[in-house]
Amino acid sequence: MLKRLVGAFGPSERAAGAVAGGYALASGVWIIASDRLLAAAPIDVGTLTRHQTLKGWFFVATTALLLFVFIRRALERLRASEEKFRTLVERSLAGIYIIQDGRFAYVNSRFGEVFGYPPEVITGRLTVDDLVAPADRPVVRENLRRRTAGEIQHLNYAFTGARADGASIDVEVAGEMTTLSGRPAVIGTLLDQTERNRLQRRALEDQKVETLGLLAGGLVHDFGNVVAAVIGHAELLALGLPKGSAARRDAEIIQDCARHASDLTRQLLTFSRRQKPAPVSLDLNATVRGCEAMLRSAAGSLIRLDLLLEDGLGSVRAAPGQLEQAMMNLVINARDAMPRGGVVVVSTARGGLSGKPCAVLAVRDMGAGMEPETLARVFEVFFTTKGDKGTGLGLPTVQRIAENAGGRVELVSSPGVGTTARVLLPLIL
Ligand code: ADP
Ligand code: MG
Repeated sequence: MLKRLVGAFGPSERAAGAVAGGYALASGVWIIASDRLLAAAPIDVGTLTRHQTLKGWFFVATTALLLFVFIRRALERLRASEEKFRTLVERSLAGIYIIQDGRFAYVNSRFGEVFGYPPEVITGRLTVDDLVAPADRPVVRENLRRRTAGEIQHLNYAFTGARADGASIDVEVAGEMTTLSGRPAVIGTLLDQTERNRLQRRALEDQKVETLGLLAGGLVHDFGNVVAAVIGHAELLALGLPKGSAARRDAEIIQDCARHASDLTRQLLTFSRRQKPAPVSLDLNATVRGCEAMLRSAAGSLIRLDLLLEDGLGSVRAAPGQLEQAMMNLVINARDAMPRGGVVVVSTARGGLSGKPCAVLAVRDMGAGMEPETLARVFEVFFTTKGDKGTGLGLPTVQRIAENAGGRVELVSSPGVGTTARVLLPLIL
Protein backbone atom coordinates (compact mmCIF):
# COMPACT_ATOMS: atom_id res chain seq x y z
CA MET A 1 0.00 0.00 0.00
CA LEU A 2 2.73 2.45 1.06
CA LYS A 3 4.90 1.20 -1.78
CA ARG A 4 2.08 1.88 -4.27
CA LEU A 5 1.59 5.34 -2.83
CA VAL A 6 5.32 6.14 -3.01
CA GLY A 7 5.51 4.70 -6.52
CA ALA A 8 2.82 7.13 -7.69
CA PHE A 9 5.19 10.07 -7.14
CA GLY A 10 8.11 11.10 -9.32
CA PRO A 11 11.76 11.08 -8.19
CA SER A 12 11.72 14.83 -7.35
CA GLU A 13 8.64 14.43 -5.11
CA ARG A 14 10.17 11.44 -3.36
CA ALA A 15 13.47 13.23 -2.66
CA ALA A 16 11.67 16.36 -1.40
CA GLY A 17 9.27 14.15 0.64
CA ALA A 18 12.20 12.39 2.34
CA VAL A 19 13.75 15.72 3.35
CA ALA A 20 10.44 17.19 4.58
CA GLY A 21 9.51 13.95 6.42
CA GLY A 22 12.94 13.76 8.08
CA TYR A 23 12.61 17.39 9.12
CA ALA A 24 9.11 16.88 10.58
CA LEU A 25 10.27 13.81 12.49
CA ALA A 26 13.41 15.49 13.86
CA SER A 27 11.44 18.62 14.83
CA GLY A 28 8.74 16.53 16.56
CA VAL A 29 11.32 14.59 18.54
CA TRP A 30 13.11 17.84 19.48
CA ILE A 31 9.89 19.56 20.62
CA ILE A 32 8.63 16.66 22.70
CA ALA A 33 12.04 15.81 24.21
CA SER A 34 12.99 19.42 24.99
CA ASP A 35 9.51 20.12 26.52
CA ARG A 36 9.82 17.06 28.74
CA LEU A 37 13.33 18.08 29.76
CA LEU A 38 12.22 21.60 30.68
CA ALA A 39 9.14 20.34 32.55
CA ALA A 40 11.31 18.04 34.64
CA ALA A 41 13.74 20.84 35.52
CA PRO A 42 13.25 22.39 39.02
CA ILE A 43 12.72 26.01 37.83
CA ASP A 44 10.04 28.66 38.42
CA VAL A 45 7.43 29.63 35.84
CA GLY A 46 9.24 32.86 34.75
CA THR A 47 12.47 31.05 34.00
CA LEU A 48 10.53 28.27 32.24
CA THR A 49 8.85 30.83 29.91
CA ARG A 50 12.23 32.42 29.12
CA HIS A 51 13.69 29.00 28.37
CA GLN A 52 10.69 28.17 26.18
CA THR A 53 11.24 31.40 24.18
CA LEU A 54 14.95 30.66 23.83
CA LYS A 55 14.10 27.14 22.69
CA GLY A 56 11.73 28.65 20.07
CA TRP A 57 14.42 30.98 18.73
CA PHE A 58 16.92 28.13 18.60
CA PHE A 59 14.40 26.13 16.58
CA VAL A 60 13.81 29.00 14.14
CA ALA A 61 17.60 29.53 13.71
CA THR A 62 18.24 25.84 13.04
CA THR A 63 15.36 25.66 10.55
CA ALA A 64 16.61 28.77 8.70
CA LEU A 65 20.13 27.34 8.55
CA LEU A 66 18.83 24.04 7.20
CA LEU A 67 16.68 25.85 4.60
CA PHE A 68 19.73 27.88 3.54
CA VAL A 69 21.88 24.77 3.12
CA PHE A 70 19.28 22.77 1.21
CA ILE A 71 18.08 25.55 -1.10
CA ARG A 72 21.62 26.61 -1.91
CA ARG A 73 22.57 23.06 -2.79
CA ALA A 74 19.50 22.58 -4.98
CA LEU A 75 20.06 25.88 -6.79
CA GLU A 76 23.72 25.12 -7.35
CA ARG A 77 22.90 21.77 -8.84
CA LEU A 78 20.28 23.38 -11.06
CA ARG A 79 22.73 26.03 -12.20
CA ALA A 80 25.46 23.51 -12.93
CA SER A 81 23.06 21.39 -14.95
CA GLU A 82 21.69 24.45 -16.78
CA GLU A 83 25.23 25.57 -17.53
CA LYS A 84 26.01 22.15 -18.94
CA PHE A 85 22.99 22.14 -21.23
CA ARG A 86 23.49 25.76 -22.25
CA THR A 87 27.04 24.94 -23.37
CA LEU A 88 25.77 21.89 -25.23
CA VAL A 89 23.08 23.93 -26.97
CA GLU A 90 25.26 26.93 -27.74
CA ARG A 91 28.12 24.85 -29.14
CA SER A 92 25.90 22.31 -30.87
CA LEU A 93 26.80 21.37 -34.45
CA ALA A 94 23.08 21.32 -35.16
CA GLY A 95 20.86 24.37 -35.26
CA ILE A 96 18.51 24.51 -32.25
CA TYR A 97 15.31 26.56 -32.09
CA ILE A 98 12.19 27.26 -30.08
CA ILE A 99 9.20 28.62 -31.98
CA GLN A 100 6.11 30.19 -30.43
CA ASP A 101 3.30 32.01 -32.27
CA GLY A 102 5.17 31.81 -35.60
CA ARG A 103 8.21 33.58 -34.14
CA PHE A 104 11.51 32.42 -32.77
CA ALA A 105 11.69 32.50 -28.99
CA TYR A 106 15.24 31.12 -29.09
CA VAL A 107 17.86 30.05 -31.67
CA ASN A 108 21.46 28.99 -31.06
CA SER A 109 24.43 30.38 -32.95
CA ARG A 110 24.65 27.44 -35.37
CA PHE A 111 21.03 28.12 -36.38
CA GLY A 112 21.99 31.72 -37.13
CA GLU A 113 25.03 30.57 -39.11
CA VAL A 114 22.96 28.25 -41.31
CA PHE A 115 20.68 31.11 -42.34
CA GLY A 116 23.35 33.81 -42.40
CA TYR A 117 21.88 36.02 -39.64
CA PRO A 118 23.11 36.81 -36.12
CA PRO A 119 20.88 34.81 -33.71
CA GLU A 120 19.53 37.98 -32.07
CA VAL A 121 18.22 39.22 -35.43
CA ILE A 122 16.31 35.97 -35.88
CA THR A 123 14.80 36.02 -32.40
CA GLY A 124 14.14 39.74 -32.45
CA ARG A 125 12.88 40.52 -35.93
CA LEU A 126 12.15 37.51 -38.13
CA THR A 127 9.16 35.23 -38.51
CA VAL A 128 9.39 31.59 -39.47
CA ASP A 129 8.23 32.48 -43.01
CA ASP A 130 11.29 34.69 -43.49
CA LEU A 131 13.56 31.65 -43.34
CA VAL A 132 11.53 29.40 -45.65
CA ALA A 133 11.51 29.45 -49.47
CA PRO A 134 8.09 30.74 -50.63
CA ALA A 135 7.08 27.42 -52.20
CA ASP A 136 7.57 25.53 -48.92
CA ARG A 137 5.90 28.03 -46.56
CA PRO A 138 2.45 26.33 -46.55
CA VAL A 139 4.01 22.97 -45.65
CA VAL A 140 6.14 24.42 -42.84
CA ARG A 141 3.20 26.42 -41.42
CA GLU A 142 0.96 23.36 -41.46
CA ASN A 143 3.61 21.23 -39.75
CA LEU A 144 4.05 23.87 -37.04
CA ARG A 145 0.30 24.13 -36.53
CA ARG A 146 -0.10 20.37 -36.17
CA ARG A 147 2.58 20.25 -33.49
CA THR A 148 1.41 23.26 -31.49
CA ALA A 149 -2.17 21.95 -31.67
CA GLY A 150 -0.88 18.69 -30.20
CA GLU A 151 -2.06 16.62 -33.20
CA ILE A 152 1.40 15.13 -33.42
CA GLN A 153 4.15 15.10 -30.82
CA HIS A 154 7.22 14.68 -33.01
CA LEU A 155 7.96 15.43 -36.66
CA ASN A 156 11.03 15.06 -38.88
CA TYR A 157 11.01 16.51 -42.40
CA ALA A 158 13.01 18.44 -45.00
CA PHE A 159 12.30 21.72 -46.76
CA THR A 160 14.02 24.48 -48.71
CA GLY A 161 15.25 27.33 -46.55
CA ALA A 162 15.98 30.93 -47.56
CA ARG A 163 19.29 32.41 -46.45
CA ALA A 164 19.96 36.07 -45.69
CA ASP A 165 21.97 36.36 -48.94
CA GLY A 166 19.01 35.04 -50.93
CA ALA A 167 20.49 31.58 -51.51
CA SER A 168 18.33 28.48 -51.14
CA ILE A 169 19.47 25.78 -48.74
CA ASP A 170 18.30 22.22 -48.08
CA VAL A 171 17.44 21.86 -44.42
CA GLU A 172 16.14 19.00 -42.32
CA VAL A 173 14.33 19.58 -39.02
CA ALA A 174 13.17 17.41 -36.13
CA GLY A 175 10.74 19.19 -33.80
CA GLU A 176 8.86 18.33 -30.61
CA MET A 177 5.86 19.93 -29.09
CA THR A 178 6.63 21.62 -25.75
CA THR A 179 5.34 24.42 -23.52
CA LEU A 180 6.95 27.76 -22.87
CA SER A 181 5.54 30.09 -20.19
CA GLY A 182 2.52 27.82 -20.04
CA ARG A 183 1.72 28.10 -23.75
CA PRO A 184 2.38 25.62 -26.61
CA ALA A 185 5.64 25.94 -28.51
CA VAL A 186 7.86 23.81 -30.73
CA ILE A 187 11.45 22.96 -29.84
CA GLY A 188 13.73 21.27 -32.32
CA THR A 189 17.01 20.76 -34.12
CA LEU A 190 17.94 21.66 -37.68
CA LEU A 191 20.63 20.41 -40.07
CA ASP A 192 21.94 22.09 -43.22
CA GLN A 193 21.98 19.27 -45.79
CA THR A 194 22.80 21.44 -48.82
CA GLU A 195 26.37 20.23 -49.20
CA ARG A 196 25.45 16.61 -48.59
CA ASN A 197 22.69 16.75 -51.20
CA ARG A 198 24.98 18.51 -53.66
CA LEU A 199 27.63 15.82 -53.25
CA GLN A 200 25.01 13.12 -53.67
CA ARG A 201 23.75 14.70 -56.89
CA ARG A 202 27.29 15.15 -58.13
CA ALA A 203 28.13 11.52 -57.38
CA LEU A 204 25.09 10.47 -59.37
CA GLU A 205 26.14 12.71 -62.26
CA ASP A 206 29.67 11.34 -62.17
CA GLN A 207 28.25 7.86 -62.35
CA LYS A 208 26.16 8.76 -65.38
CA VAL A 209 29.15 10.41 -67.03
CA GLU A 210 31.30 7.40 -66.27
CA THR A 211 28.80 5.13 -68.00
CA LEU A 212 28.48 7.54 -70.89
CA GLY A 213 32.26 7.78 -71.16
CA LEU A 214 32.65 4.01 -71.28
CA LEU A 215 29.99 3.74 -73.94
CA ALA A 216 31.38 6.64 -75.92
CA GLY A 217 34.94 5.35 -75.72
CA GLY A 218 33.85 2.03 -77.16
CA LEU A 219 31.53 3.25 -79.86
CA VAL A 220 32.52 6.71 -80.90
CA HIS A 221 35.75 5.81 -82.62
CA ASP A 222 34.16 3.34 -85.03
CA PHE A 223 31.15 5.57 -85.43
CA GLY A 224 33.43 8.49 -86.32
CA ASN A 225 35.04 6.42 -89.10
CA VAL A 226 31.65 5.51 -90.51
CA VAL A 227 30.54 9.15 -90.47
CA ALA A 228 33.81 10.29 -92.07
CA ALA A 229 33.20 7.80 -94.89
CA VAL A 230 29.65 9.09 -95.35
CA ILE A 231 30.87 12.69 -95.51
CA GLY A 232 33.63 11.80 -98.00
CA HIS A 233 31.37 9.85 -100.31
CA ALA A 234 28.59 12.44 -100.17
CA GLU A 235 31.19 15.05 -101.17
CA LEU A 236 32.33 12.94 -104.14
CA LEU A 237 28.73 12.33 -105.08
CA ALA A 238 27.92 16.06 -104.96
CA LEU A 239 30.94 16.90 -107.11
CA GLY A 240 29.75 14.57 -109.85
CA LEU A 241 26.27 16.08 -109.98
CA PRO A 242 25.23 19.21 -111.88
CA LYS A 243 25.20 22.38 -109.75
CA GLY A 244 21.72 23.43 -108.66
CA SER A 245 20.18 20.06 -109.38
CA ALA A 246 17.84 18.45 -106.88
CA ALA A 247 20.15 15.43 -106.63
CA ARG A 248 23.12 17.64 -105.74
CA ARG A 249 21.10 19.38 -103.03
CA ASP A 250 20.22 15.97 -101.60
CA ALA A 251 23.88 15.01 -101.57
CA GLU A 252 24.69 18.27 -99.77
CA ILE A 253 21.99 17.61 -97.19
CA ILE A 254 23.58 14.20 -96.57
CA GLN A 255 26.88 16.00 -95.94
CA ASP A 256 25.26 18.43 -93.49
CA CYS A 257 23.53 15.68 -91.57
CA ALA A 258 26.70 13.63 -91.40
CA ARG A 259 28.65 16.67 -90.13
CA HIS A 260 26.01 17.13 -87.46
CA ALA A 261 26.43 13.48 -86.49
CA SER A 262 30.17 14.02 -86.34
CA ASP A 263 29.69 17.03 -84.02
CA LEU A 264 27.58 14.91 -81.70
CA THR A 265 30.31 12.31 -81.71
CA ARG A 266 32.83 14.90 -80.69
CA GLN A 267 30.48 15.97 -77.90
CA LEU A 268 30.40 12.43 -76.58
CA LEU A 269 34.16 12.15 -76.73
CA THR A 270 34.52 14.87 -74.10
CA PHE A 271 33.05 12.36 -71.66
CA SER A 272 35.26 9.50 -72.68
CA ARG A 273 38.31 8.93 -70.57
CA ARG A 274 40.26 7.39 -73.42
CA GLN A 275 40.44 10.53 -75.48
CA LYS A 276 41.88 13.28 -73.32
CA PRO A 277 43.68 15.63 -75.70
CA ALA A 278 46.64 17.28 -74.01
CA PRO A 279 46.04 20.92 -73.08
CA VAL A 280 48.12 23.58 -74.79
CA SER A 281 48.60 27.27 -74.20
CA LEU A 282 46.01 29.23 -76.19
CA ASP A 283 45.40 32.93 -76.83
CA LEU A 284 41.75 33.18 -75.83
CA ASN A 285 40.88 36.15 -78.06
CA ALA A 286 42.55 34.55 -81.08
CA THR A 287 40.60 31.37 -80.40
CA VAL A 288 37.32 33.30 -80.31
CA ARG A 289 38.17 35.14 -83.56
CA GLY A 290 39.25 31.88 -85.16
CA CYS A 291 35.84 30.34 -84.74
CA GLU A 292 33.79 33.49 -85.34
CA ALA A 293 32.55 32.32 -88.74
CA MET A 294 31.53 28.95 -87.35
CA LEU A 295 29.69 30.62 -84.46
CA ARG A 296 27.86 32.96 -86.84
CA SER A 297 26.70 30.12 -89.01
CA ALA A 298 25.55 28.18 -85.93
CA ALA A 299 23.66 31.22 -84.65
CA GLY A 300 21.72 31.47 -87.90
CA SER A 301 20.44 34.45 -89.85
CA LEU A 302 18.02 35.71 -87.18
CA ILE A 303 20.74 36.29 -84.61
CA ARG A 304 23.21 39.16 -84.55
CA LEU A 305 26.45 38.00 -82.98
CA ASP A 306 28.59 40.71 -81.33
CA LEU A 307 32.14 40.12 -80.17
CA LEU A 308 33.49 42.22 -77.29
CA LEU A 309 37.06 41.13 -76.66
CA GLU A 310 39.24 42.69 -73.99
CA ASP A 311 42.71 43.44 -75.33
CA GLY A 312 45.88 41.91 -73.91
CA LEU A 313 44.02 39.23 -72.04
CA GLY A 314 46.75 36.59 -72.22
CA SER A 315 46.66 32.86 -72.57
CA VAL A 316 44.79 30.00 -71.02
CA ARG A 317 45.47 26.28 -71.07
CA ALA A 318 42.97 24.07 -72.84
CA ALA A 319 42.85 21.14 -75.19
CA PRO A 320 42.72 22.22 -78.86
CA GLY A 321 39.19 22.39 -80.18
CA GLN A 322 37.55 22.24 -76.77
CA LEU A 323 37.05 25.97 -76.26
CA GLU A 324 35.51 26.20 -79.73
CA GLN A 325 33.20 23.38 -78.83
CA ALA A 326 32.21 25.09 -75.56
CA MET A 327 31.48 28.35 -77.40
CA MET A 328 29.46 26.51 -80.02
CA ASN A 329 27.34 24.85 -77.37
CA LEU A 330 26.72 28.16 -75.59
CA VAL A 331 25.87 30.03 -78.79
CA ILE A 332 23.51 27.27 -79.89
CA ASN A 333 21.74 27.46 -76.51
CA ALA A 334 21.49 31.24 -76.89
CA ARG A 335 20.03 30.79 -80.35
CA ASP A 336 17.50 28.23 -79.07
CA ALA A 337 16.45 30.68 -76.35
CA MET A 338 15.64 33.34 -78.98
CA PRO A 339 13.63 31.54 -81.67
CA ARG A 340 12.48 34.86 -83.11
CA GLY A 341 15.98 36.28 -83.26
CA GLY A 342 17.98 38.78 -81.21
CA VAL A 343 21.48 39.67 -80.13
CA VAL A 344 24.09 37.32 -78.70
CA VAL A 345 27.20 38.85 -77.19
CA VAL A 346 30.36 36.78 -76.96
CA SER A 347 32.84 38.58 -74.75
CA THR A 348 36.16 38.07 -73.03
CA ALA A 349 37.40 39.92 -69.96
CA ARG A 350 39.62 39.64 -66.95
CA GLY A 351 38.13 38.19 -63.79
CA GLY A 352 39.01 36.32 -60.64
CA LEU A 353 38.89 32.63 -59.82
CA SER A 354 39.61 31.50 -56.23
CA GLY A 355 41.58 34.69 -55.62
CA LYS A 356 43.69 34.35 -58.78
CA PRO A 357 43.32 36.29 -62.03
CA CYS A 358 41.42 34.47 -64.73
CA ALA A 359 39.95 34.99 -68.15
CA VAL A 360 36.18 35.15 -68.44
CA LEU A 361 34.62 33.95 -71.65
CA ALA A 362 30.95 34.96 -71.60
CA VAL A 363 28.02 34.30 -73.90
CA ARG A 364 25.01 36.51 -73.20
CA ASP A 365 21.57 36.31 -74.73
CA MET A 366 18.32 38.21 -74.30
CA GLY A 367 16.19 35.13 -74.65
CA ALA A 368 13.64 33.25 -72.63
CA GLY A 369 15.86 32.77 -69.58
CA MET A 370 15.29 30.03 -67.02
CA GLU A 371 13.25 29.47 -63.89
CA PRO A 372 15.39 28.62 -60.83
CA GLU A 373 14.20 24.98 -60.99
CA THR A 374 15.57 24.64 -64.54
CA LEU A 375 18.75 26.53 -63.73
CA ALA A 376 19.45 24.15 -60.86
CA ARG A 377 19.49 21.17 -63.23
CA VAL A 378 21.20 22.38 -66.40
CA PHE A 379 24.50 20.65 -65.67
CA GLU A 380 22.80 17.28 -65.33
CA VAL A 381 23.73 14.98 -68.17
CA PHE A 382 20.70 14.46 -70.46
CA PHE A 383 18.69 17.24 -68.81
CA THR A 384 16.86 19.12 -71.54
CA THR A 385 13.66 21.13 -71.84
CA LYS A 386 13.75 20.84 -75.63
CA GLY A 387 12.17 17.41 -75.91
CA ASP A 388 13.44 15.39 -78.88
CA LYS A 389 15.33 18.40 -80.20
CA GLY A 390 17.67 18.55 -77.20
CA THR A 391 20.37 16.15 -76.09
CA GLY A 392 21.01 17.55 -72.64
CA LEU A 393 24.73 17.26 -73.32
CA GLY A 394 25.54 20.88 -74.20
CA LEU A 395 26.12 22.42 -70.79
CA PRO A 396 27.56 19.31 -69.12
CA THR A 397 30.12 19.29 -71.97
CA VAL A 398 30.92 22.97 -71.39
CA GLN A 399 31.36 22.18 -67.70
CA ARG A 400 33.75 19.29 -68.38
CA ILE A 401 35.73 21.43 -70.79
CA ALA A 402 36.04 24.24 -68.26
CA GLU A 403 37.06 21.78 -65.54
CA ASN A 404 39.63 20.16 -67.83
CA ALA A 405 41.14 23.62 -68.25
CA GLY A 406 41.19 24.16 -64.46
CA GLY A 407 38.20 26.50 -64.47
CA ARG A 408 34.45 26.41 -64.04
CA VAL A 409 31.16 27.62 -65.50
CA GLU A 410 28.70 30.06 -63.99
CA LEU A 411 25.20 30.67 -65.30
CA VAL A 412 23.06 33.66 -64.46
CA SER A 413 19.55 33.66 -65.82
CA SER A 414 16.22 35.28 -65.25
CA PRO A 415 12.99 34.41 -67.03
CA GLY A 416 12.07 36.87 -69.73
CA VAL A 417 15.36 38.76 -69.41
CA GLY A 418 18.01 36.40 -70.67
CA THR A 419 20.96 34.27 -69.73
CA THR A 420 24.66 34.82 -69.33
CA ALA A 421 27.02 31.87 -69.31
CA ARG A 422 30.50 32.63 -68.00
CA VAL A 423 33.40 30.25 -68.45
CA LEU A 424 36.16 31.12 -65.99
CA LEU A 425 39.60 29.91 -67.08
CA PRO A 426 42.84 30.36 -65.12
CA LEU A 427 45.31 32.62 -66.95
CA ILE A 428 48.86 31.51 -67.60
CA LEU A 429 51.05 34.21 -66.17
P1 ADP B 1 20.08 21.02 -74.68
O1 ADP B 1 20.44 22.33 -75.30
O2 ADP B 1 20.32 19.86 -75.56
O3 ADP B 1 18.70 21.01 -74.09
P2 ADP B 1 21.98 21.82 -72.71
O4 ADP B 1 22.77 21.05 -71.71
O5 ADP B 1 22.74 22.65 -73.69
O6 ADP B 1 21.07 20.77 -73.44
O7 ADP B 1 20.97 22.75 -71.95
C1 ADP B 1 20.11 22.18 -70.98
C2 ADP B 1 18.88 23.04 -70.76
O8 ADP B 1 19.27 24.28 -70.17
C3 ADP B 1 18.15 23.43 -72.01
O9 ADP B 1 17.22 22.44 -72.39
C4 ADP B 1 17.46 24.72 -71.61
O10 ADP B 1 16.27 24.46 -70.90
C5 ADP B 1 18.43 25.32 -70.61
N1 ADP B 1 19.26 26.37 -71.22
C6 ADP B 1 20.56 26.27 -71.56
N2 ADP B 1 21.02 27.43 -72.05
C7 ADP B 1 19.99 28.30 -72.04
C8 ADP B 1 19.82 29.67 -72.43
N3 ADP B 1 20.82 30.38 -72.96
N4 ADP B 1 18.60 30.25 -72.24
C9 ADP B 1 17.59 29.56 -71.72
N5 ADP B 1 17.68 28.26 -71.33
C10 ADP B 1 18.85 27.63 -71.51
MG1 MG C 1 22.35 22.90 -75.78
